[in-house]
Amino acid sequence: MSIVVKNLTHIYNEGMPFSSKALDNISFEIKDRDFVGLIGHTGSGKSTFIQHLNGLLKATSGHIYYNGKDIYEQGYDMKELRRRVGLVFQYPEHQLFETDIFKDVCFGPKNLGLSRQEYEIRAFESLRLVGLDENLYYQSPFDLSGGQKRRVAIAGVLAMKPDVLILDEPTAGLDPKGRDDILDCIKALRDETGITVILVSHSMEDVARYVSRIMVMDDGILKYDDTPQNVFAHYKELEQIGLAAPQVTYIMNDLVKAGMDVNPDAITVDEARDSILRHFNIKM
Ligand code: ADP
Ligand code: MG
Repeated sequence: MSIVVKNLTHIYNEGMPFSSKALDNISFEIKDRDFVGLIGHTGSGKSTFIQHLNGLLKATSGHIYYNGKDIYEQGYDMKELRRRVGLVFQYPEHQLFETDIFKDVCFGPKNLGLSRQEYEIRAFESLRLVGLDENLYYQSPFDLSGGQKRRVAIAGVLAMKPDVLILDEPTAGLDPKGRDDILDCIKALRDETGITVILVSHSMEDVARYVSRIMVMDDGILKYDDTPQNVFAHYKELEQIGLAAPQVTYIMNDLVKAGMDVNPDAITVDEARDSILRHFNIKM
């Protein structure tokens, strides 16, 4: 699996008095098994950007190649692209509609024309991957907690067996526990299946612990595309575009400034703790 994007520009309402450039000449590549965090403040273009990757929005200019094929070429199978690039929208629970959870997850694969046995196996497998308790499978999705509903929505997309899973702000509106649960769930299903994941968020804190690459959007421009360490090294610039680095970054940089020999690139609390203990020669 590979996605290559070249000079992608998207202008909403082009030619109208209220036209606006939501994406400005973006180029990047996503490789198999990448775990990417796509970060940017509200309105920076994240949702616009990901909707291009499965063909829901068409670029004003630029090219997208999926496995080497130009998706804008005449005759390209967009339906197949939408199956392969699974998109979980923001607040996906609004799209649950079946009378029970299991039926809801079956809906997509059933519409692919699979046999009942095949689509039911997929639904079971997907619900297992998102860690939903089996006792809930035949209950109404509307009785679930916010985080559980979101798991069901993710399972519905997984049941299509996509190559790439894109999640638009999966933590939006959840409390801190619900947020950690859903992120841990995404990490676990990725570890088990090896699926390529693009996680959209406006919070660095959210993605810092999970992803191996961060893309930062600012006003339609792809500002950084690098490892979390290299991106957080720009924490001052990130602040200027309305994004804070993880709190650990600030603490570690302050400690370095105060003369301590600790690692300013520590991203997680555990890394920071280890680095500080090492400084004091304390063995755990
Ligand atoms: P994000 O997901 O990062 O919050 P969006 O991709 O939703 O950003 O929006 C990027 C820009 O495009 C914003 O200025 C937004 O107002 C504008 N925009 C988004 N959707 C539309 C639309 N359907 N029509 C016109 N402008 C839009
Ligand atoms: Mg958005």
